Amino acid sequence: MITTTNTDINSYKHEPFTDFTLEENRSEFKKALEVVQSELGKDYPLVIGEEFITTKEQIISVNPANKKEVIGRVSKANKELAEKAMQTALSTFNTWKKEDPEVRANILFCAADIIRRRKHEFSGYLVKEAGKPWKEADADTAEAVDFLEYYARQMMKLKDGSPVESREGEINKFNYIPLGVGIIISPFNFPLAIMAGTVAAAIVTGNTVLLKPSDNTPVVAAKFVEVMEEAGLPQGVFNYIPGDGEEIGDYLVDHPKTRFISFTGSREVGCRIYERAAKVQPGQIWLKRVIAEMGGKDTVVVDKDADLDVAASSIVYSAFGFSGQKCSAGSRAVIHQDVYNEVLEKAVALTKTLTVGSPEDVNTYMGPVIGQASYNKIMKYIEIGMEEGKLMTGGEGDDSEGYFIQPTIIADVNEKARLMQEEIFGPVVAFCKARDFDHMMEIANNTEYGLTGALLSNTPEHIERAKEEFHVGNLYFNRGCTGAIVGYHPFGGFNMSGTDSKAGGPDYLIMHMQAKTTSTTI
Ligand code: NAP
Repeated sequence: MITTTNTDINSYKHEPFTDFTLEENRSEFKKALEVVQSELGKDYPLVIGEEFITTKEQIISVNPANKKEVIGRVSKANKELAEKAMQTALSTFNTWKKEDPEVRANILFCAADIIRRRKHEFSGYLVKEAGKPWKEADADTAEAVDFLEYYARQMMKLKDGSPVESREGEINKFNYIPLGVGIIISPFNFPLAIMAGTVAAAIVTGNTVLLKPSDNTPVVAAKFVEVMEEAGLPQGVFNYIPGDGEEIGDYLVDHPKTRFISFTGSREVGCRIYERAAKVQPGQIWLKRVIAEMGGKDTVVVDKDADLDVAASSIVYSAFGFSGQKCSAGSRAVIHQDVYNEVLEKAVALTKTLTVGSPEDVNTYMGPVIGQASYNKIMKYIEIGMEEGKLMTGGEGDDSEGYFIQPTIIADVNEKARLMQEEIFGPVVAFCKARDFDHMMEIANNTEYGLTGALLSNTPEHIERAKEEFHVGNLYFNRGCTGAIVGYHPFGGFNMSGTDSKAGGPDYLIMHMQAKTTSTTI
């Protein structure tokens, strides 16, 4: 029997990060890495209802820091298997939707406990399969626990609906009921947290799901499937069907029985899903709901009176954490002309101290990027950057063993240049000079995205103006623009960054349900 920790609905606190300055924690983490190492290369089947299905065709998941190392061989769903999973999820929905919300929430609490107990093992998989350095892997695992804890509590708050007025002779109720079968499509960059969070939100609200994880990180997802089973989730609620994005992705997005799609990934794929889901298919009797959390081109803005050391470190850590592969990564620094040179100099000096190498080494700050296609794309952007601006540091890559790219700063980039407009999703930051605060806000808002941003300033009027004018879903002051915490910084962006669903926030679960009004005459 699994015992859960504090499940009081008002007691949520985010999971603390591991302190790797302590020898004891370092040694535990190393042991977990050894366990993961000993498990590498295993086969992972699809999970559809009670069946574990092994297919001939497989996704071979490799370590991006060491391409020769196979993390796992994962069975691959085709359209027929995707259809089988859909039928399973449809029939399981009939029972799961009637399950007591408290029981559903309790399964999430149990799953959080299981991951908490095995946290270094999960982080070890993130080190190996996603190339995350220890701290980044630890934060990803902590965030997965947070999502489970937070959404379980949110469900407890929503289970009896919201109050509405009644009047004489009439009792009125306003309740939330589940939607149906949801397709969860997750990205590689938070392969545990985002995958687990999007699945957990959908199932705790009474839906059944088909999960298509990223082709780059299907093993971490398979491990989460095991956790949910151990936590007591009935078979058929959560079906695991890795496969080709275009083949089974399009098939399931178009499927007339798909009720909603929860997607996190690039703008390109998100827009494709949004468009296809809008078309009503023969036999479809609802309008599909789409949650699409997409890319970013996020800016750190530095005012002339900011603390310049804090500014430089905010720029550097926002740009290069997890090799810039965060949707919230600060890939643009917009700096007041009076302090531009000084901030640039400090940022370059700090960047030169960053260590790049194997994420298995506790001292590594930056590991690899996820794969060959990303590596090629980022190196191409560095070439473009060298034409559009001035290379200050970095610029080099090495894909002989893994996909390593040096943290790169390109200075004196025009506000309209490609480097300032397009999501690179790698360790590259463009520096751009601004005339005054008006100009800073103008540049900050001049992309098609609107995900995160930061302003470093000691002028209260500028901070107040930024609150109104800086058009991003997550805005931070006097710190970097990454590192949102579940329940503290609900996360999601404006414009082409997506539907602003605010994952880890109080409005998120409602998007997985529909409201029903009942009025009883007495
Ligand atoms: P991606 O290439 O768009 O892939 C995301 C998922 O979509 C993967 O599972 C992929 O499968 C699948 N997919 C591909 N084509 C599809 C199709 N036609 N139909 C349905 N699904 C399809 O994104 P990524 O490279 O994994 O992740 C990086 C992107 O995610 C960046 O743009 C980043 O900004 C964004 N992101 C946004 C947020 C946010 O909260 N706003 C958070 C994290 C990441 P395959 O792996 O099989 O191609």
